[in-house]
Amino acid sequence: MQSEIQAPLNITRIAVRDSLIRPTVLQASLLGEYASLLMMGHALFGAAWWAAAVPKNPAALIMVLSGLWIAFRAVGGVAGEKSTAAVSVLMLIMTGVLAITGVSRVPEWMTGSIIAPIVSTIILVVLLIVEFLDGRVRSEARLTKPERRKRDGVALKLAFVGLFLAWGLGVPAVKAIYRASHPLPEKLAMERMSFVEEAGFRCGEAMVTACFFALGANIGSFLNVVVWRMPLGISIVHGDSRCPICSTKIANRDNIPIFGWLGLGGQCRACRTEISPRYPIVEAITGTVFLLFYFVELISGGANLPVREINAYRGVLWIIMYPKWDVIGLYLYHCYLFCVLLVLTLMALDRSRIPRRLLIFAFTVAIALPLAFPDLAVVPVWPSLPTGLISSAAYVGAGTIVGLLIGCVLNWAWRRSLQHEPSEQMATIPSSGLIGAVFGWQAVLSIATFFCGLMLVRIMLTDRVDRLLWHLFVTVLIHHLLWRVMSYWSGYVWPHASCSVTSVILPLLIVAACVVVIRRNTLSFSPK
Ligand SMILES: [Zn+2]
Repeated sequence: MQSEIQAPLNITRIAVRDSLIRPTVLQASLLGEYASLLMMGHALFGAAWWAAAVPKNPAALIMVLSGLWIAFRAVGGVAGEKSTAAVSVLMLIMTGVLAITGVSRVPEWMTGSIIAPIVSTIILVVLLIVEFLDGRVRSEARLTKPERRKRDGVALKLAFVGLFLAWGLGVPAVKAIYRASHPLPEKLAMERMSFVEEAGFRCGEAMVTACFFALGANIGSFLNVVVWRMPLGISIVHGDSRCPICSTKIANRDNIPIFGWLGLGGQCRACRTEISPRYPIVEAITGTVFLLFYFVELISGGANLPVREINAYRGVLWIIMYPKWDVIGLYLYHCYLFCVLLVLTLMALDRSRIPRRLLIFAFTVAIALPLAFPDLAVVPVWPSLPTGLISSAAYVGAGTIVGLLIGCVLNWAWRRSLQHEPSEQMATIPSSGLIGAVFGWQAVLSIATFFCGLMLVRIMLTDRVDRLLWHLFVTVLIHHLLWRVMSYWSGYVWPHASCSVTSVILPLLIVAACVVVIRRNTLSFSPK
């Protein structure tokens, strides 16, 4: 009776719920709409090609089915049903198997093109993430904030276990099944591993990778303590972690990085006071930096570092199990710099005084290590200089001085806008000096150029000049990941190993021009 009366009013709502095409988080923004249309177009195009080019190949059937499914799901087909995710996972497994094993009897251009199985696999992962976000939006209203965080904690744990099993057991299983029908040629038979051998090896790899993330997250947890206690003059080594409100000692199981906070729902177990999400975020950032460098710098054999030759034998086995100490040393030295930069950034954000003994410690370590281990000085200070103690002394000396000078210039450009944040003024110069000491004078000049350019764009787009050190941190991070690529592309116009005097003038001019513009812009921002 009631539904009959309300029916006319609810027609649109019922029509939306019952129709096959429903709005998802993708349809919430213009960019998302374009992305969903792009995915649909791409999927239909791919399905058509597979159907036309290799109609009798069983792989084509999988690719056409998954293509049609992706096209349907991209525009929100049957969104929000439990079975939808199950079908997507099934499609993901099938295209994933094709991507790992490769497709036989197919023109080569198809398996290496934008309609290759790996592309469909990636898009299916994206669609599953959209599905997950959609589910979250729908259940958002029902759960309280702590409940949501606890659920996120469980989901994150499951995701970690899933990744571990997929890498440790899933990939070897798919390879073993494929090898059963496609044996390796005789001369490669030595490289063949049984399922058990390969699963053992890959589980070991996954364990080592997880350990590096855990190491980073635990160090991040320690950095939180440093940022909180050091400006207050409290010992960073002694004393347990306590709730700042009720002084209850934080139990060991609640002190596990990231998961401890999520498990508590972001509240103190005793007094239910909200614990800042900054703690798990800092732990996640440090863990991610350690993990990123682990892939890009450590087990790649130093692939991101310029000048230095990339190790011939790479991977977990050849870098970590049979330790290559020069790469491991570089990795730890660079991770150390990012930890210090993060601490300085967070202290500036808190507007706390930067403790002098922290600066003394940070500079001592950054300067002493390359003197003791000359391998840590990556780029020669000048092309013709021989390597050795004198060279690495020149490296840290020149780097520190150029870094400090650039820090002073940046500080001068931002002085007006930073008047209400003196800690940021105090942290810019040592941060820049440390970057120079660790990466050398050429890199600090490049970083300053990119940083100034980035800040200029930011001022033009948003009219904001704050959070200087966060942007510096992100610039240094990106520069480090792309260090080799950039010194390779830049040739002789940018300062690097084989630079000339003229190659220094261009970046100096760019920095100077940016600084003048920024200085003029920040003058119009009156201090609070
Ligand atoms: Zn408490």
